[in-house]
Amino acid sequence: MSETLFEQIIAREIPADIVYETDTTLAFRDINPRASTHVLVVPKTRYRNVAELAEADAGLLADVLNTAAKVAELEGVADKGYRVVFNTGEDAGQTVFHVHAHVLGGGPLGPEARG
Ligand code: AMP
Repeated sequence: MSETLFEQIIAREIPADIVYETDTTLAFRDINPRASTHVLVVPKTRYRNVAELAEADAGLLADVLNTAAKVAELEGVADKGYRVVFNTGEDAGQTVFHVHAHVLGGGPLGPEARG
């Protein structure tokens, strides 16, 4: 079995509502959405957080951000605005230690739409 929940989703060992995929990234809906659009974007290679990803592979971080922008387009929120959030560490509320971008949008975003 894969190590983290998101590796299990990438490996199709557990189901997810996948909205977009590239060679290096996967985007799927958050199971507990905090905005009408709430999609998670993960790199297929595991890093614990965005700092580790940025240091190890800036190109892969760019892939994650480009996938986030593509998801915003597909979800119809790119023009009116959306939020991209990387919770990093316990105090930020990170619960899954496989780096992921929260893409939040679909109406004015309040403080609850923090990913
Ligand atoms: P974070 O708290 O930033 O680590 O984000 C983890 C996110 O993963 C939370 O927003 C959860 O709602 C979400 N999540 C947990 N389990 C699943 C799942 N099986 N499929 C999709 N999203 C999930």
